[in-house]
Amino acid sequence: MASQRITDGPSVAIVGAGVAGICTGIKLLAAGNRNFTIYEKASEIGGTWRENTYPGCSCDVPLHMYQFSFELDPGWDRKFVTSADIKAYLEKVVDKYGLRSFIRFNTEIGEASFDEARGVWQLRGAGESFEAHVIAAGTGQLHRPLYPALPGRENFEGPSWHSADWNHEYDLAGKHVGVIGTGASAIQFVPEVVRKVARLSLFQRTPAWVVPRPQRDFASWEKILYGAVPAFMRLQRWKIYWSGELLFYAFHKSGDKIREMAIEAMKADVADPVKQAALTPDYAPGCKRVLFSNDWWPAMGRSSLDVVTDPIETITATGVKLKSGRDVPLDAIIYGTGFDTTHFLGPMKVTGLGGADIKNVWRKGAEAHHGMTVPGFPNFFLLYGPNTNLGHNSIIFMIECQANYIVQCVRKLKDDDLLYLDVKPEALRASNLSVQNDNENSVFNAGCTSWYKTEEGKVTNNWANYTFKYWWRTRRPDFAEYNLRKRPSALKAIAAE
Ligand SMILES: Cc1cc2nc3c(=O)[nH]c(=O)nc-3n(C[C@H](O)[C@H](O)[C@H](O)COP(=O)(O)OP(=O)(O)OC[C@H]3O[C@@H](n4cnc5c(N)ncnc54)[C@H](O)[C@@H]3O)c2cc1C
Repeated sequence: MASQRITDGPSVAIVGAGVAGICTGIKLLAAGNRNFTIYEKASEIGGTWRENTYPGCSCDVPLHMYQFSFELDPGWDRKFVTSADIKAYLEKVVDKYGLRSFIRFNTEIGEASFDEARGVWQLRGAGESFEAHVIAAGTGQLHRPLYPALPGRENFEGPSWHSADWNHEYDLAGKHVGVIGTGASAIQFVPEVVRKVARLSLFQRTPAWVVPRPQRDFASWEKILYGAVPAFMRLQRWKIYWSGELLFYAFHKSGDKIREMAIEAMKADVADPVKQAALTPDYAPGCKRVLFSNDWWPAMGRSSLDVVTDPIETITATGVKLKSGRDVPLDAIIYGTGFDTTHFLGPMKVTGLGGADIKNVWRKGAEAHHGMTVPGFPNFFLLYGPNTNLGHNSIIFMIECQANYIVQCVRKLKDDDLLYLDVKPEALRASNLSVQNDNENSVFNAGCTSWYKTEEGKVTNNWANYTFKYWWRTRRPDFAEYNLRKRPSALKAIAAE
């Protein structure tokens, strides 16, 4: 099948049924290509929004912007919605576009290798092999939970869990619970947990800049208007989009306003000056993700919550031992320590031309042309890949740009009867230079450690520019940036003419 002329459109293997995989599937359908399969390792769709069920889990981007631009739902009640709401929205979208029959659940792709002679990717997973001309890998940046490298973690005799794998069975009432980490997830679940427990010890390495979230319920007239006049919803979306872009300006020009708002909110709820000092970051707002919450500071003000800044020496059978020598006995430990973000594609082994292993190519930090293509890995596209994460706008916007780009590349393969297209090293060098320059001059490089960077300090995750620039650069693939290899059959036909 695969070495013959492609008549139905190249076959596409989409890996992952999160926002990225779903979006790419819908865009392929819209382009008339039904020759694809979405491989999903879990038994349900949704990615991030399936896995993160911790109390308080919600999206930081107002919902009008955290939806597909082609599927704006008027039925929401509030401006910021929960992970369960987004999961339900994605389920509805999958059904509406008839995508479910294209998804192969419980199929984790472990390996993919490119057969150059046939222009085909061979994928292996769940004890089976599959083939496709093209891979679109939507395996997520925030998908593999990260635990801290603390000795003794396995010795703790009480229950412990990661925020992305919430233990809903455990009754928190009356317990002394330790929370390790103060990242984006902890900011959301700590206020919920502290209401239930007798005592919460928050083990903090670095405090976060947390500003109020402008949450509100929609009035009934607004909901009627959203349903009756789609242009009104588009207008809201537009407004939110440009406010996000302004936020980028604020991070990168001066974080003073954000600093002021966060400190004012903290002082309103946290009276203890020792706690205030412990909770005030010493790095620029935006260097790590600025977080939005209306519950965080009231939670920090509670007398039943201690902020522990002494570093942890070890986890013991009964709790935590600090470097200062103090023991903190705990009934349960919750890890709010985020994700392994810089090892793109996770454990998946990807082998390109000449047997090159993508992990080896990325040993100094992942990079891809427009976050999508890597020289030597033909017809292989990343979704939400290197340097496409944002601190100021919706990832769905970036993912839509990528899905549009990939669909145009798939069309090119078909229209020009290509065996493959492979991005030129010089194209990646040029785009990556621009991305790294942006990052170097950005707040992401302002002297903090964050999940945006490798241990060596290279920013591999973030796009440090306005998102409309990303849209502009990716709106049409520049095929001069690619080596285009014709199918042997097409070459013969040309020679015979
Ligand atoms: C708690 C939390 C809050 C967030 N809040 C925001 C926000 O406010 N705004 C924002 O823009 N973004 C936010 N994000 C980022 C969010 O991850 C993205 O917006 C978006 O969901 C990414 O979608 P994705 O499809 O690329 O990845 P994911 O949602 O991670 O989905 C990846 C999918 O691929 C599957 N998969 C992975 N590897 C394989 C494999 N080898 N084989 C088969 N299947 C595989 C997974 O099971 C999963 O279903 C948040 C993330 C988290 C964790």
